[in-house]
Amino acid sequence: MRPLLIAGNWKCHLRHASARRLAEEVRQGLPQIDGILVALCPAFVHIPPVKEVIKGSPIILGAQDLHWQDDVAATGEVGPSMLAEWVEVVIIGHSERRRLFGESDEVVNRKVKAALQAGMRPILCIGETLEERQRGDTFIVLARQLEGALAQVDSPEGIVIAYEPVWAIGTHMAATGPQAQEVALFIRSWIGKKWDPQCADSVIILYGGSVTPQNMAEFATQPDIDGALVGGASLDSRSFLGIIAEAARAKGKPWGS
Ligand code: PEP
Repeated sequence: MRPLLIAGNWKCHLRHASARRLAEEVRQGLPQIDGILVALCPAFVHIPPVKEVIKGSPIILGAQDLHWQDDVAATGEVGPSMLAEWVEVVIIGHSERRRLFGESDEVVNRKVKAALQAGMRPILCIGETLEERQRGDTFIVLARQLEGALAQVDSPEGIVIAYEPVWAIGTHMAATGPQAQEVALFIRSWIGKKWDPQCADSVIILYGGSVTPQNMAEFATQPDIDGALVGGASLDSRSFLGIIAEAARAKGKPWGS
């Protein structure tokens, strides 16, 4: 049985004090959780203080990106081994990195392999633009992104895949549950064909894009969606905790016992 995973992507938000406060509020508001993974992915500079705040709690710490090489002349970058000293998961290939920083599938692939090698769990983001969806190219784009990102990866076990339609990110225009389920099933089948159905069954697949406490259940009730990657709504502890509670309820996971 796959766990439920709710990950908060804090992007380029917060300051030292507000990052600590948000992490503290999430920590305080989380009841006993069983079968639910909760991850916080702050900006690099907020990783050490957030780590201190969540110490001793079940919250998992994550990063939003990494460089693929250690100990190289790569000014401004954070290498895999140094990052693995701090976090367990790392978001890779977010559409904002692809769009704003020109990250190609090849770069995403290097980062996925580097994260795995360093012992971190990648949250690999894939998703189509509105134009690609309207052209009817959604599955072509997703297959290309999966093929590129997972090239020369021995096994996808341990990799989390986040389906994040670009048109739904930060727009308040979430996909519908059936739209997200259709894609999650496509991703699982793609993995089943490339590796094997058993391994496809174990891969955690998330939906991301304007998730709120109000729409979380629509996604969490879908059989192939195992949780959410949450941007804006993860910056408010009440809405982030509300999302976790709704997802737990929809998946029949114990909450608050
Ligand atoms: C994201 O950036 O990964 C995301 C899903 O953002 P939002 O929830 O704000 O749409």
